[in-house]
Amino acid sequence: MVSSAMMNALTIDVEDYFQVSALAPFIARSQWDATPSRVERNVDLILGLLAERSANATFFTLGWIGDRYPQLVRRVADAGHEVASHGYGHQRATELDREAFLADIRLAKAVLEDITGEEVRGYRAPSFSIGRENEWAFDCIGEAGYAYSSSIYPIRHDHYGIPDAPRFPYRSREGLLEVPITTARFFSRNLPAGGGGYFRLMPYSMSRWFIRRVNGIEGRPAIFYFHPWELDPGQPRVEGIDAKTRFRHYLNLDRMQGRLRKLLADFEWGRVDRVFLAREVQ
Ligand SMILES: [Zn+2]
Repeated sequence: MVSSAMMNALTIDVEDYFQVSALAPFIARSQWDATPSRVERNVDLILGLLAERSANATFFTLGWIGDRYPQLVRRVADAGHEVASHGYGHQRATELDREAFLADIRLAKAVLEDITGEEVRGYRAPSFSIGRENEWAFDCIGEAGYAYSSSIYPIRHDHYGIPDAPRFPYRSREGLLEVPITTARFFSRNLPAGGGGYFRLMPYSMSRWFIRRVNGIEGRPAIFYFHPWELDPGQPRVEGIDAKTRFRHYLNLDRMQGRLRKLLADFEWGRVDRVFLAREVQ
């Protein structure tokens, strides 16, 4: 089959394996600095995969990572990718009050801009943690000076998602574009087409079918996301976690690199600002 010529947006949430929200109950924040890091190795691996295809991406990076690995953030920017913000400390927006959330996203923006010397325009909430009950977060994102957010996955999931949110980019506030993670629509249901655990759980051909459908039938660019730790079967195992969390975190890590190579070969990939923002904001 001929691949679609439409440019889609590829995104990476740059955090280490021990910062994942689902593992938060098992690793204290105070242990982060003493835990062996894998993020540099894994991001460099991703940079290599993207370079093989001359593809670009947006890296939603934690301010915490920027403070510790500024040279990594510089490598990402120097390779032509967009550096965007994943907040500073990876606390879910639902865990913070308005003031603390605003401080967190302002700090991350300042840290990343200091490193690259370029404006950070995009933000993604940890674990898609903006929902009906904390839509004030959009006011904060605009107030902090971001031009877009990609913080909603319009699906049903036990940890995140607004199933009835718009499926395609929309103005959540004046001057602020929300770019929801891509879903495919079947029988009045939104199915995940934009990555996450599903991409490792389900056969690759399903994701390919869904994205082709969005590009071809709906005529829309897709936005897809993954994490550096998902390409790392050698990451240290976290002790004491429950079976469901263990299954979700460690499943098919050894297949991820091959699947990403296929995804990079089957579609055109670029940065969120170029795919979505350029056409919306003049
Ligand atoms: Zn995250």
